[in-house]
Amino acid sequence: STLYRIDGWGAPYFAVNTAGNISVMPHGLGTLPHQEIDLLKIVKKASDPKHFGGLGLQLPLIVRFPDVLKNRLESLQSAFEFAIQEQGYDGHYQGVYPVKCNQDRFVVEDIVKFGSPFRFGLEAGSKPELLLAMSCLCKGNQEALLVCNGFKDREYISLAIVARKLALNTVIVLEQEEELDLVVEISKKLCIRPVIGLRAKLRTRHSGHFGSTSGEKGKFGLNTTQVLRVVKKLENLGMLDCLQLLHFHIGSQIPTTALLADGVGEAAQIYCELVRLGAQMRVIDIGGGLGIDYDGTKSCDSDISVGYSLEEYAAAVVSAVQFVCDRRSVKHPVICSESGRAIVSHHSVLIFEAIGASSYGAPTLSTIGLQHLVEGLSDEARADYQSLSAATMVGDYENCVLYMEQLKQRCVEQFKQGTLGMEQLASVDGLCELVSSAIGAKDPVRTYHVNLSVFTSIPDFWGIDQMFPIVPVHRLDEKPTAKGILSDLTCDSDGKIDRFIGGESSLPLHELEGNDGGYYLGMFLGGAYEEALGGLHNLFGGPSVVRVMQRDGPHGFAVTRAVPGPSSGDVLRVMQHEPELMFETLKYRAQEFAADENGHDDDEDVDEKSMMNAAALAARLAFSFDNMPYL
Ligand code: PLP
Repeated sequence: STLYRIDGWGAPYFAVNTAGNISVMPHGLGTLPHQEIDLLKIVKKASDPKHFGGLGLQLPLIVRFPDVLKNRLESLQSAFEFAIQEQGYDGHYQGVYPVKCNQDRFVVEDIVKFGSPFRFGLEAGSKPELLLAMSCLCKGNQEALLVCNGFKDREYISLAIVARKLALNTVIVLEQEEELDLVVEISKKLCIRPVIGLRAKLRTRHSGHFGSTSGEKGKFGLNTTQVLRVVKKLENLGMLDCLQLLHFHIGSQIPTTALLADGVGEAAQIYCELVRLGAQMRVIDIGGGLGIDYDGTKSCDSDISVGYSLEEYAAAVVSAVQFVCDRRSVKHPVICSESGRAIVSHHSVLIFEAIGASSYGAPTLSTIGLQHLVEGLSDEARADYQSLSAATMVGDYENCVLYMEQLKQRCVEQFKQGTLGMEQLASVDGLCELVSSAIGAKDPVRTYHVNLSVFTSIPDFWGIDQMFPIVPVHRLDEKPTAKGILSDLTCDSDGKIDRFIGGESSLPLHELEGNDGGYYLGMFLGGAYEEALGGLHNLFGGPSVVRVMQRDGPHGFAVTRAVPGPSSGDVLRVMQHEPELMFETLKYRAQEFAADENGHDDDEDVDEKSMMNAAALAARLAFSFDNMPYL
């Protein structure tokens, strides 16, 4: 586990058990030994053909642990409750989950259910997100906040105002000044008094990748002048009491509590100013940004790690708000956060399988003898060959590498000119491989082919260089003897993973046992953002998903839900194809073809045997459309 730094990024949810497999502690620190779940057992159960409709689920597979989600929510809540109590803060914490981080129905429903005892709410950033948040919160705590962010048109604003009529605690957060006019107009028309928040552009900036949303030039929010104009307008309309919430978002993965405290302090000043100007302020919403330590280093110098714990984050927020409000004699507000990454990242694991690896293969000199090879070489190439032989004899590493390169280059030139045959070119490659292994210059990094699409399942790796811990989920009691990069099954050269946490360019891996796969790898901490971002590049659909709850008993878990990945037909439909029509066309073709093969050219004459063939062909095609998930 030290090799993969599991203790660093995995605690308190993931560790290695005595069988050498990844073990999941669904209740975090409170997990009892008999409650630990062996991840490999879940993978075996999910892919077992005896289960799930007699096919088993195809990999890649997302394994969701709602217990982990519950633990994350409760840990965040208790971190704030502890800081509030410890510092004598006179208000409470009431978070919301930004559904954009993972809109999966069961994730959102679970969060609403688990967060209900402490009024945990939701944040929406678009109309469909608002609709899903509204319907989920109907089953939640009535006091839970429903924060409406994002660009808003008339329809979005109407919906948010109607939501108040449904007794949902909706706050419309103005991201642009123009939204105010629509809010005023629509609320008057519907005779519903809105609760309004505003998003302030802070001067505090976060310099990492995710910091571009912050600072004066950030894409979202109102600057100081706009904030003042909004206040004035509301005052003139007699609606200043509607303004109750101040929101800001410094950016995701805030690296340090110092930067956090700086931003929260600035926002608290704006909050106090709004109180002074007469708004009925109640809530300070500090946005997202609570970071995840993806590489387990607790370092604040990179986007993939952060140098604080949940407790330190909460303590910094509470003390920054309290400090400013006390100095300004303002009542302590309710503190809301929109932590997404920190709530959902740990709860799911993406499992995939290495189905083959490039092998060194014994270097050969092809069927051609050295003598024949040398005869075919140009004078310059022959001179390189002789220098290479001499350098090899005396073990001169540097010259060996130099002459090998030169020899190869000249041979390729000769091949292009047609003066060297393919067998000879292969022999040169074989010779160079032999020399490389003899002098230890061979690249030891191998390519493992894994059955997923990087574009679909790990889009942030491809898009923004985000790294996630990737680890075999078994054989961790065996020393890995190979180093590998992972190549996916899309026919795109970007579809590979060749950078790993710790700045490594390869991953320690085990030798595959046979060619039938069976070597399972897990990508961890990918529960936020990855699922909704993934596209259909190469028409690879999404993974299968299982929901796994800890249960006392022989297996220690129960699969409470299993959803196969989309079939080829499903994926084609997304791109406006019509699988049913496509199938009919191909079926007709199959009938024609089967008829032709038997010397018939019209359908009525097709004999029983050829009909069988056509039927078998059609059945095979139907299987490809409907039952063949993913590939
Ligand atoms: N709130 C807003 C307005 C955001 O833009 C984001 C993400 O970018 C979040 C919350 C969630 O941030 P995080 O996942 O870092 O907690």
